[in-house]
Amino acid sequence: MNADVLVADLRTTFNRGRTKPVTWRVEQLRALNRLLKQESAVLERALGADLGKSPAEVATTETGFVANEIDHALRNLNTWLRPERSKVPAFMLPAKARVVREPLGVTLIIGAWNYPVQLTLAPLVGALAGGNCAIVKPSELSERTAAALARLLPKYLDPEAVKVVKGGVPETTALLEQRFDHIFFTGSAPVGVIVMTAAARHLTPVTLELGGKNPCIVEPGVDLAVTARRIVWGKFLNAGQTCVAPDYLLAVGQSATELESHLANAIREMYGPDPATSPDYGRIVSERHFDRVAAFLRDGRVVTGGQADRGNRYIAPTVLAEVDPGAPVMREEIFGPVLPIIAVPDLSSAITFVNERDKPLSLYAFTASEQSRRRLLAETSSGAVGFGLPAAHLAVPGLPFGGVGTSGQGAYHGKYSIDTFTHAKAVLDKPLSPDTWRLAYPPVGRLKERM
Ligand code: NAD
Repeated sequence: MNADVLVADLRTTFNRGRTKPVTWRVEQLRALNRLLKQESAVLERALGADLGKSPAEVATTETGFVANEIDHALRNLNTWLRPERSKVPAFMLPAKARVVREPLGVTLIIGAWNYPVQLTLAPLVGALAGGNCAIVKPSELSERTAAALARLLPKYLDPEAVKVVKGGVPETTALLEQRFDHIFFTGSAPVGVIVMTAAARHLTPVTLELGGKNPCIVEPGVDLAVTARRIVWGKFLNAGQTCVAPDYLLAVGQSATELESHLANAIREMYGPDPATSPDYGRIVSERHFDRVAAFLRDGRVVTGGQADRGNRYIAPTVLAEVDPGAPVMREEIFGPVLPIIAVPDLSSAITFVNERDKPLSLYAFTASEQSRRRLLAETSSGAVGFGLPAAHLAVPGLPFGGVGTSGQGAYHGKYSIDTFTHAKAVLDKPLSPDTWRLAYPPVGRLKERM
């Protein structure tokens, strides 16, 4: 169907008021929950085919993640939607002021391929909870999952309010020509520019969930065995194709050399002596991304890993040492299972290193020093900070998830999704009698007469 017809149909649905009642929103959220449970095998197979994800990883980072988001929304929706009272200044009394949460209308959700269920359905939870219509456009790279979503969403959700559009650049370009009331985009910064430019033509607000290079700072004096396990878990989940994965390590002082063996041990512990045979280790999404990531294997001394098999889109979990900060692996977001270690003499050098680059989506630090934590929070800027654990902050429903600067703008998850997918409408209500506002009427010179 043509993009203009699709959007016009959704606008008709919205204008009829169909999506506004809280009962409709709750029904839709429950139906989405049912989809996740009843179709878990279908989604598992699709994600296995697209990305080699294990059922356990699907259950935690994809379907389970969205189910938690739905449960949290269902528990809190009435509170989030309750009008918020505001104080009225004394000179306006008697009067009442409040903020009401108004649905936006027709929204567009464009997803990335690395978590193709989570990155389309978690924003959809916000769109539905906010009382909106939505078009969901999954990434064409995770095509089996896109096909499954296109088949399943109309079966479970209100087909007059939620549509799925499959396709890549031409289909997304056609959608972006239409006027939406909000565009929620997850993907790369260059495509973020395209989305924001298209949105600007209609003055459509955007949320941009982008990426970048997430630094992970390790100071001496921490338990390096546990540190290495946490880093390896966050880095090699989904074969490193995670926007919040640690991109590179900044190892302070002697921790650089000590970390090498700990990281190698942790990889062996989690994925065995040959990760190619591990059921828990994923694959690179496409041959183009395989070639891009495999080229990074040349950019340092291989501490562990380094194997690559194009036919199976397999790249071993790899740690690189002695990496030049100017090497290609340090110039762009890695988005794959390659972890460079950069040695720095002290925390100040680590902070300078971070601040010389684009603001990351997240910054991680393993440190025993409270002062270092304070300095990192005060002296660096990032979408989020994780002390002692990478990537997991996005599973805390009370925290906003989003970037800053080139890593994105806007946020979602939990209450923040309601903020994103509704308009905070200011309402002032002042009775006509008594007419205390007469003091404000001109001519001001006759103020006394009216008092
Ligand atoms: P991408 O920007 O290539 O694609 C994202 C979406 O945009 C896809 O649906 C795609 O079809 C569409 N698209 C691509 N080119 C387009 C064009 N020219 N015009 C219109 N639409 C276009 O990103 P990707 O490769 O799918 O994802 C990887 C990037 O996403 C990384 O930078 C990663 O860090 C980031 N990411 C961010 C988050 C987050 O939550 N912040 C999550 C996952 C991925």
